[in-house]
Amino acid sequence: MNALLDNLNPEQHAAVTLPPEPALILAGAGSGKTRVLTTRIAWLIQTGQVAPHSLLAVTFTNKAAKEMLTRLSAMLPINTRGMWVGTFHGLCNRLLRAHHRDAGLPQTFQILDSSDQLSALKRMLKALNIDDEKYPPKQLQYFINNAKECGLRAKDVEANDDFNRKFVELYALYDEQCQREGVVDFPELLLRCYELLDRNQILREHYQARFRHILVDEFQDTNSLQYAWLKLLANYGKQPTNALFAVGDDDQSIYAFRGANVANMEKFEREFRVRHHIKLEQNYRSHGHILEAANTLIRQNSRRLGKNLWTASGEGEPLRVYEAPTDMLEAQWLVEEIKNLIAEGYSREEIAVLYRSNAQSRVLEHALFSAMIPYKVYGGLRFFERAEIKHALAYLRLIENKDDDTAFLRVVNFPTRGIGARTLEQLQDTARTYNQSLYASVPMIAGKAGSNLTAFVNLIEQMRFAAQGLTLPEVIEQVIHQSTLITHYQNEKEGQDRVDNLQELVNAATAFISEEGLAQDTGATTSLVLNDTSAESAPNVAPSTPLANFLAHAALEAGDNQAAEGTPAVQLMTVHAAKGLEFNAVFLTGLEEGLFPHENSLVELDGVEEERRLMYVAITRARKRLYMSLAQSRMLFGQTRYSVKSRFLEELPENTLKWLTPKVQALGSNWSYGASAQSNFGGSNGQYGKKDRAWDEAWDKQDNAQTAAASAKIRQKQGEHASGFRIGQAVFHTKFGEGVILELEGQGADARAQIKFRRHGNKWLALGIAKLTAI
Ligand code: ATP
Ligand code: MG
Repeated sequence: MNALLDNLNPEQHAAVTLPPEPALILAGAGSGKTRVLTTRIAWLIQTGQVAPHSLLAVTFTNKAAKEMLTRLSAMLPINTRGMWVGTFHGLCNRLLRAHHRDAGLPQTFQILDSSDQLSALKRMLKALNIDDEKYPPKQLQYFINNAKECGLRAKDVEANDDFNRKFVELYALYDEQCQREGVVDFPELLLRCYELLDRNQILREHYQARFRHILVDEFQDTNSLQYAWLKLLANYGKQPTNALFAVGDDDQSIYAFRGANVANMEKFEREFRVRHHIKLEQNYRSHGHILEAANTLIRQNSRRLGKNLWTASGEGEPLRVYEAPTDMLEAQWLVEEIKNLIAEGYSREEIAVLYRSNAQSRVLEHALFSAMIPYKVYGGLRFFERAEIKHALAYLRLIENKDDDTAFLRVVNFPTRGIGARTLEQLQDTARTYNQSLYASVPMIAGKAGSNLTAFVNLIEQMRFAAQGLTLPEVIEQVIHQSTLITHYQNEKEGQDRVDNLQELVNAATAFISEEGLAQDTGATTSLVLNDTSAESAPNVAPSTPLANFLAHAALEAGDNQAAEGTPAVQLMTVHAAKGLEFNAVFLTGLEEGLFPHENSLVELDGVEEERRLMYVAITRARKRLYMSLAQSRMLFGQTRYSVKSRFLEELPENTLKWLTPKVQALGSNWSYGASAQSNFGGSNGQYGKKDRAWDEAWDKQDNAQTAAASAKIRQKQGEHASGFRIGQAVFHTKFGEGVILELEGQGADARAQIKFRRHGNKWLALGIAKLTAI
């Protein structure tokens, strides 16, 4: 008996040991799909059916890829370095780096994340003198990405009106701009890679012969281009096709809004004449009540392939539901519960806080931070997206690739070196006239402006020269000092955390390098974008530099957790980001109509069904304990919103739920505030109304008197001030930046607020004068 296969149930065993032919494992959440996929890789290698470098496995996130490699190296005494395990983007990046010449890209091509892409589009529209109200850059970005994800170049897009014709024209111009600058956006990574393999027979045949086994996790979320890419590698249409092993769950298809197509599952079955279908029905993750709630919920969807899940682990605890008057109180409650969980012995990293929209995290973070509970946010403002980090990366990108205009514009005058907007316009005009990069156009600018620009170019040249012979962390150390970024932030009041972040970038590079070294020595996990030793046997492989690899890593890591490692922390993330993960305790917050299901979904075909699948994903992340909460009022996007509870709560079986607050349905559904920000909560403004009293009575009945007392204090503090602001509100000031209101005093012309600014500390400001906006 093979030890790898112990502890698998019969269906899992059958799936792991299928013959090398196309197969589809369709199964619900927590039934062991990912485990089956990983075990199959180990089994194929162990039984000598495939060499580690001759299989390709696609995961949904970089984190999942790393986890898979860690598990593999625990199962087998092999070096996982260089294995082709990664995300679609990671794998395409690797192929494009190895074959950049054949792909028509410079060796040093840089990856644009979506905010870089948007600024590149805005820059282009401006240069073309195009009204961005008439042709909104965001819409153009969506148009372009959508086309690319369908595998369409500008020339392939059919436009049937003037507006779309203009977009097609702009799409073509944008692609030219990217090509000129040597940059590649996210969907381009895939499309370019697809075209490379499609057009280059030698490469295609090489990789088709190499990847006899292709394994794909979360198959339900592949889009058309990804499916086409898989088909190409799997040698579709010829005999024999490669063994494409797909695992997925139609009930967890949650990326339709990004072009994912659950119909790819049926298409795959049909096109590859799949003979091996396996269903896994035992759930090993969640206790009974959690599973029953998930099953009941998803049964309300009409379009399902249909499957059942059962568990042998008993009912477990009921799902706890909490209804708070405000988002602040919801967060306060959550903090208290987390403290209780920790006291009960739960470790912090086993606790996840999920939300539907990123914007919800601010209040939750604030509460956790104030309670000094360490937490990490997945998604949101990620390490590599912070302004200071993007500045440092822009210098590094210019060292690698002079033609990267996006990077050039980001730092040419940061820190300031007397280069104004007019000079830059002149430079951009020149660059356009000569069809060359901004960097290359600098010598053509005369006068003082020209000498300031030349000084900048000289700085970059010096950096490039100095970088020779240095290690990656040394290069970064050098760049953050020579660019004067460090001194710039040191001089900025409260710029210390930015200085720390820049230092952290050096640490990130050290970790990146040592991970590579470690992997070499011990066969431990490795990252996706390392030098491709395993591709050496492929034709025409280009070597890649550590800096290029690191920059690609920075661009691709977006979406993965970048917080400092070491301290166990509560995990915060959107429901989308939680896909595939599991935690002992899960808080599912903001269960309000309009938020979850999201209001945009209500008008879309299949919108609510997609939201319900998202809710199904959320519920099934929990192993033992699931909390669900909602707030009757919430500050979002500068407005107080009043909501009733989510329909999804109503759809759960009552016997699985335990209401922590009295089930005050009457309150929830009868409250009909308008969209105005008139609040009735709290006594401080003298507007204590009937509904508040009803709430208070209900509130008083709840068991946890301590929480009630703490929350009441906050509620009192939260009373909305006549100025329209309230304590705890996040605000923006043109000079001091972001802050939070600590105190409010006085009325009318005397009204003033004490605000804690992130960078400038506490300040009292007169509300009549200070230009404050709620954020
Ligand atoms: P999702 O749909 O959420 O991605 P999944 O189907 O991929 O879930 P896994 O993450 O592979 O499920 O497995 C869920 C949990 O159940 C994991 O902790 C896994 O180790 C465990 N598990 C799976 N199969 C077995 C088994 N046969 N015996 C014990 N535990 C198992
Ligand atoms: Mg999984």
